[in-house]
Amino acid sequence: MARPAADAHSNRAAVQATNDDASASKLSCVKKGYVKDDYIHLFVKRPVRRSPIINRGYFARWAALRKLLFQFLDCGRNSDENGRTKKQILSLGAGFDTTYFQLKDEGKAPYLYVELDFKEVTSKKAALIETCQQLRDKVGATASISWEKGEVLSDQYKLLPVDLRDMETLNDVISLANMDPGMPTFIIAECVLIYLDPDSSRNIVGWASKTFSTAVFFLYEQIHPDDAFGQQMIRNLESRGCALLSIYATPTLLAKEKLFLEQGWQRAVAWDMLSVYGNFVEAEERRRIERLELFDEFEEWHMMQEHYCIAYAINDTMGLFRDFGFPNNEQDVLNKT
Ligand code: SAH
Repeated sequence: MARPAADAHSNRAAVQATNDDASASKLSCVKKGYVKDDYIHLFVKRPVRRSPIINRGYFARWAALRKLLFQFLDCGRNSDENGRTKKQILSLGAGFDTTYFQLKDEGKAPYLYVELDFKEVTSKKAALIETCQQLRDKVGATASISWEKGEVLSDQYKLLPVDLRDMETLNDVISLANMDPGMPTFIIAECVLIYLDPDSSRNIVGWASKTFSTAVFFLYEQIHPDDAFGQQMIRNLESRGCALLSIYATPTLLAKEKLFLEQGWQRAVAWDMLSVYGNFVEAEERRRIERLELFDEFEEWHMMQEHYCIAYAINDTMGLFRDFGFPNNEQDVLNKT
């Protein structure tokens, strides 16, 4: 019996380490001028330089998420004294993501921003928020911060520990964070559900649909485990102790869409990152970043981008999201695999 427990523990540590990797990649992108993020350097102990492919790939994901996030934040005006509808964001497996801090700077932070992760990660993040003035200023002087509990509680920002596989505790945490199930909600799950077992991933997607009646669920993760590139990608992650446990349950774009629809979401759309970059990232932005570094690994770039996708699902009781999403492209819909 000792062995599975030890394996589970090392898997947990390995999955948490992917957060450090993600943060280092983000900082690499910032340093090269792909994206602006005045906070991520505070979370990275050992900066590294990533290859142009990794930088460009991260840029595509960042640009697409921001596009959808801003659509969400900007829709449904005229509801409060500032002319804005109250909104909330829930980030699952948020790691050291800095979106809240960036939105604060941009005057775009929603009414409530909630981040969840394993306690080992939220404790480290809480400690950094408490000790870095730049971060502390953004959560406000009255925030209650506990490293031991791995919590930050302010009116607008909450960071809380939870194991996302434990649905009961997940409900408690959402209540503790004062999330309002009726408030328009943007749920972010970037590179997290794919590491969970398929039942847990499915349960989370279903739980989110039942809980939030006006919501967008944003997913970014790997697809296509079966071809040579996919098999290598999986071996690389497995050798680091973090298997992509959910990838075989949703190996294609259609399977990701089906996952959401079967779990009760009203609409679901998935695109691979090659389409996202080519069709949905602004041409001007592409021209800008394509000048930043010498780039000649086109074949590798295409293969990598075909193995990552963005999916988003929508519940729209309030009728806010009629125009939400990437523009429809009939040809791509026909070609979707
Ligand atoms: N979303 C962030 C971090 C991705 S790394 C980003 O895109 O940059 C994956 C994160 O998911 C890690 O921080 C890890 O600790 C968290 N995670 C994985 N499984 C989890 C679980 N069962 N419960 C809570 N957090 C989990």
